[in-house]
Amino acid sequence: MSTLADRTLCELAPLVAGGKASCREVVQAFLDRSAEVDARVGAFVSLRREEALREADEADRARARGEARSPWHGLPLAVKDILVSPDFDTSCGSRILRGFRAPYESSVLRHVRDAGLVVVGTTNMDEFAMGSSCENSALRQTANPWDLTRVPGGSSGGSAAAVAAREAPVALGSDTGGSIRQPAALCGVVGLKPTYGRVSRYGLVAFASSLDQVGPFARTVEDAATLLGVIAGHDPRDSTSVGQEVPDYVAALAGLPDGLRVGIPREFLAEEGADPEVLERVHAAIRVLEARGAKTVEVSLPHSPYGIATYYLICMAEASSNLSRYDGVKYGFRSEAPTLDEMYRSSRSEGFGPEVKRRILLGTFVLSAGYYDAYYRKAQQVRTLIRHDFESAFESCDVLATPTSPGPAWPLGERVDDPLKMYLSDIFTVTVNLAGLPGLSVPCGFTGAGLPVGLQLIGRPLDEATLLAVGQAYQRETDWHTAVPEL
Ligand code: GLN
Repeated sequence: MSTLADRTLCELAPLVAGGKASCREVVQAFLDRSAEVDARVGAFVSLRREEALREADEADRARARGEARSPWHGLPLAVKDILVSPDFDTSCGSRILRGFRAPYESSVLRHVRDAGLVVVGTTNMDEFAMGSSCENSALRQTANPWDLTRVPGGSSGGSAAAVAAREAPVALGSDTGGSIRQPAALCGVVGLKPTYGRVSRYGLVAFASSLDQVGPFARTVEDAATLLGVIAGHDPRDSTSVGQEVPDYVAALAGLPDGLRVGIPREFLAEEGADPEVLERVHAAIRVLEARGAKTVEVSLPHSPYGIATYYLICMAEASSNLSRYDGVKYGFRSEAPTLDEMYRSSRSEGFGPEVKRRILLGTFVLSAGYYDAYYRKAQQVRTLIRHDFESAFESCDVLATPTSPGPAWPLGERVDDPLKMYLSDIFTVTVNLAGLPGLSVPCGFTGAGLPVGLQLIGRPLDEATLLAVGQAYQRETDWHTAVPEL
């Protein structure tokens, strides 16, 4: 039986506008669903039960007065524990930030709340967004709703799991090297990383500032387009934010663009690069687009084999710098010690988990005198080559299609002691961040074991609209996104 919690944002909006359901009933339905399943899924690190219901009541009253702030006023969403707000704590999955309450609202949450959306809770993540499985969280374990013995992906694993498990219709995440697209793929939902600069990073806790970007999770491309429209736009408080006007992403969903050319990168679909079941599902998805009139062309991204090394050098260097601010004085956790120096040392030793420490150490190393040229500068040069690869590829196609993740969700615990193996699971997503491009992951089927597979579509800078149009055309032809995990 279908309940309110089975509905998408775009299905709920007319129900609420037409008086068929109240905002309170909708928010309550998702909270009930969380109460039923989240002990097993572990998507949320905190729920705002009373506050969310109070905001839903306020929305109902505003709607009754004819003062709806948007079609989404009073509808729920979940937020990754990395976007700050004065109304709830932000811990970034870390002990060092536990109990931290920011004095200001992130720009993304300001947009979301101006539209009247109700934050039902904050979702679990790898500490400081460093990881691909959510297992680096200091707060709790999140499971994959399709198989509770497996990882949900990461770092935004809680947001992906919350949407997959129908604990929220949509959610926000952040993506530095795949953290929206990869968990979306592993949990069978839609995830979009916008172009670098399309969405403000003001109030997003920084991991690697030249790569970080906020984006939506949803079950349908239409909902993802809707949420992107709410959060995108120029922000004078983020110097990397783009001035270009925000198009109407939902209007762009009308149909597959005429004469669309889909580029298939030779390197990404090589037999040895991915699980055969994943490749098979991705090829089948491309055939669906071909049947709708898309033309496929083979392209080459010759520097992709250097993607992982380049990404991890750059993100660790930036992380070592960004995370120097956690000194035990200004934020969250402090360890008491007899001297200032010892206080710094023990606060950081006790506050950070092993993966974060590994990255601070390696990042500091690659930036240090004598090694900077060999590692950091070299990585920046290769980053430019990777960007040029994409520019050349887009001369002969409009979007690129690849798997999002080389394999489906793996068993919890399998890769925690093997960081390199964990890093390699990001092979298809990191180059998109290095080039600053938009990337969309859309569910494109299941493995024989019933695990979701994601199709990644990569677009030209600021061309989210084409990605979303292709994703929507695909969802019109397929019903993978309507499958519900049994919980
Ligand atoms: N898995 C990648 C990493 O560990 C990407 C993380 C992210 O996008 N935040 O860095």
